Amino acid sequence: MKRLAIVNLLFFLAVSLYGQNLKSPDEFLGYELGTRFTPNYKVVDYFEYVASELSNVTHHKYGETNELRPLVTNMVSSQANIDNWEQIRTDNLKRAKMMEGSPSGKQVGIVWLSYNVHGNEANATETAMKTLYELARPNNAKSKSWLENTVVIIDPCINPDGRDRYSNWINQVAGTTPNPHPEAAEHNEPWPGGRPNHYLFDLNRDWAWQKQTESAQRMEYYHTIMPHIHVDFHEQGSNSPYYFAPAAEPIHEQVTDWQREFQEIIGRNHAKYFDENGWLFFTKESFDILYPSYGDSYPMYNGAIGMTYEQASSDLAILTDEGDTLKLSDAIAHHYTTGMSTVEMASENNERMLNEFASYFDKAVSNPKAKYKTYVVKGSNHPDKLRKLEEFLQINHIRYGKSSTKKPISAFSYQAGETKNVSVEDNDIVISSFQPKAVMVQALFEPDTYASITNTYDITAWAVPYMMGLDAYATTERLSVSDGKPSYAAPEMNVGSRPAAYLAKWETMEDAKFLAEILKAGIKLRYSNDEFTVNGKDYGRGTLIITRKGNMHLGNRFDSIVKEAATKFGRSLNSTPTTFVDSGKDFGSNGVPFLKAPRILALRGDGVSSLGFGEFWYYMEQELNYPITMVNTDDFGRVNLDDYDVVVMPSGSYGSMLNERAMEGFNSWIRSGGTVLAIERAMNTFMGKGGFNLKRYASDAEQKAARNQTDEEKEAAALTPYAERGSRYESSRLPGAIFKLKVDNTHPLGYGYDNHYFTIKNNSSRYAYLPNGWNVGIIESEGSYITGVAGEDAKKNLAKSMVFGVDNVGRGAVVYLADNPLFRAFWENGKLFVANALFFVGQ
Ligand SMILES: [Zn+2]
Repeated sequence: MKRLAIVNLLFFLAVSLYGQNLKSPDEFLGYELGTRFTPNYKVVDYFEYVASELSNVTHHKYGETNELRPLVTNMVSSQANIDNWEQIRTDNLKRAKMMEGSPSGKQVGIVWLSYNVHGNEANATETAMKTLYELARPNNAKSKSWLENTVVIIDPCINPDGRDRYSNWINQVAGTTPNPHPEAAEHNEPWPGGRPNHYLFDLNRDWAWQKQTESAQRMEYYHTIMPHIHVDFHEQGSNSPYYFAPAAEPIHEQVTDWQREFQEIIGRNHAKYFDENGWLFFTKESFDILYPSYGDSYPMYNGAIGMTYEQASSDLAILTDEGDTLKLSDAIAHHYTTGMSTVEMASENNERMLNEFASYFDKAVSNPKAKYKTYVVKGSNHPDKLRKLEEFLQINHIRYGKSSTKKPISAFSYQAGETKNVSVEDNDIVISSFQPKAVMVQALFEPDTYASITNTYDITAWAVPYMMGLDAYATTERLSVSDGKPSYAAPEMNVGSRPAAYLAKWETMEDAKFLAEILKAGIKLRYSNDEFTVNGKDYGRGTLIITRKGNMHLGNRFDSIVKEAATKFGRSLNSTPTTFVDSGKDFGSNGVPFLKAPRILALRGDGVSSLGFGEFWYYMEQELNYPITMVNTDDFGRVNLDDYDVVVMPSGSYGSMLNERAMEGFNSWIRSGGTVLAIERAMNTFMGKGGFNLKRYASDAEQKAARNQTDEEKEAAALTPYAERGSRYESSRLPGAIFKLKVDNTHPLGYGYDNHYFTIKNNSSRYAYLPNGWNVGIIESEGSYITGVAGEDAKKNLAKSMVFGVDNVGRGAVVYLADNPLFRAFWENGKLFVANALFFVGQ
């Protein structure tokens, strides 16, 4: 008996060692998957648990969110593949030309499944647990055979902060029995909703820019692997059938025939399962592949098959228009099916998938599809901007260097908008189109993005030289690139001992960060509204003048605070022994105003665009690093505005916050010296209101001229056939294009800028020149359009309009920014406008 018991025990141990007793998510969690939303820490527990039970599953933490939640993946494959992972991984990097040499091991495919990038599309993470379990479960024969030649990486949640915001909320408000009525509280999330991350960014717009820590850490990890397939799991409106690839037009011209074909192969396999179950779906509509910063396009431009899968949102259960109740368990079943079907197709098409992946990169280095063979960024650009560019190239693993050939070339100038002769010099940054990241180079740098149709989901222009404000060129000539990195002038600490004043230039965002730092340290300073010369040196507008006088309270610490801050931000610092200028205004003059550290209130909450608010919040905390007070619109009435110098109104509608009485109080605060920063739709608060100069059109005549359609055009528009209804309003559309603004850089809002600036325009709202204020950034004419999709009427309507302006109201001011320079935090060259508005305009 005893012996039998021992044999039994050994048998039991052996079985459990092989994971036959692997707990399902239901068993592990203690409730049935789909009956409630699982908090992130429990999901991570389950992923750790499965990896600890099975030797063919590994767990990896690749980062942490802003709210300190772990970012994790599990890898599941056959035991042999897991044991051999390092070889598989490096073989793959060799295929992608990111490592020297040729692959020598077995051909193993890599499928990467990313769940829940949008936090409130929350069925995805539940599905991730089921998918992991079914792939890992040792007695699942199908999975086992697929994993013979396939490694699956599962990221259960790309956006844990957003998802926990959603799941904590719904677990609090949902009844014991889910209520399917769409009007029930459990279907209506409070502001800001769970979709975005901590800083309220949409992480599915951030893949290329990597402004958010989740994206940055994930992309670092991604580049150590370079999967062959990447799937991004989403949710859409509750009444929509399931969506899977093939994607919709416009599809970027860089997407290869094979990528299109394999999307189709995978899509047909999903369709087979959906048909078997009688589930509806659609393909080839809505979700296009153009903007390079999505979870489908970015992998696509990196040699993978990138796909978006969209399931109708169920919450726990919801009534659809067809009268059915869609349950969370249904939603899980759908996402689970497409996930598994994807792995199946990867396994079945293993050989071709890997060969095509390899030839993608062979072509990239030897014969890229590229009109422009080389991009040249002049070394004469501001070193701060060049450093930003290098950082951006590095996070995307784009190679660059110096030109080996120094000679004049003919090239398209982004700044001039025409082909010019330019000489390539030693310290220029040169980016060749012949490199592993050839497609990314084209997608990010080409002056015009080709869109097969104009009906797209997102912005249509983003060329890096415009985004960073760089003097750069695109040439059809192939220049050879050598490895050396260009070097720039180091910052100079050109200061005497105990000078009368330190002087710091105002040219880039780095200067604004330096200013924020010394203001926080209690330094008092002035700035110059005019150009001047002192101690033999010339200085521009906005120069920070940090006099010893006024900082006596800091004693000897004064010098060290200023110098340390300059060193910290890599600033050049000059000094002068005298405040008596050679030309311009003396430091005691009214033209050299005292710069009071602004006390800033930023509005958030109902009515405010959560994205717009988040962009401002992120900018203040993570870029400028200057304190703000964030106030809910509901509480604005209780605020003593005298405690603030600047009120920031991100895009939004403030009608319910500012009733007539509240508006009166706000108005009188402005008149007595307050500054308002009104961004995009927030400008409507002041439109046509007494005391403010903001109007759409200066006169009826201007309105007529802007909207002037010929009789033929009117007739053609009226007679649009129903079948072409999608194109009816095309001529007034503006989904995101680049326009050239003329900048008045003598105004404080324009300090540090050239006399022009390329703006990313996401809306077609137009505003007349301010008759009594300052028009700092304007669209002069229809010819100011540079690139991207913009309808003819939209272009015409925007001619002679104000984009950035300052309305002087009593002793105060309203700064209007019709385009948001902080959009997705990637439009680097716009950020100084916001610093100018905060620090200079209201002084
Ligand atoms: Zn989504």
